[in-house]
Amino acid sequence: MICPHCGGLLKKDITNNVTPRNGQFIVICGVPCYKCVDCGTVLYRGHVMQRLEKMVNDTPRTAGNVVILDYPDSDMEVYNGH
Ligand SMILES: [Zn+2]
Repeated sequence: MICPHCGGLLKKDITNNVTPRNGQFIVICGVPCYKCVDCGTVLYRGHVMQRLEKMVNDTPRTAGNVVILDYPDSDMEVYNGH
């Protein structure tokens, strides 16, 4: 895969995703991604994006200002299998 921003090489990596939502920050740790070796752009596979959106949507507004979640390992196995 090639970086859409700079044309650099994308490599498999693990990142922490931070989603701001109405003054809340939802941090999801251990997210499988592709990261550009040149500019650091992070891209997610489609099913990972969907999982992140679902995790954010499933987090109640009352959970606190900063919510820290772990990305589920089950998806990691799928990711490693490809
Ligand atoms: Zn790049």
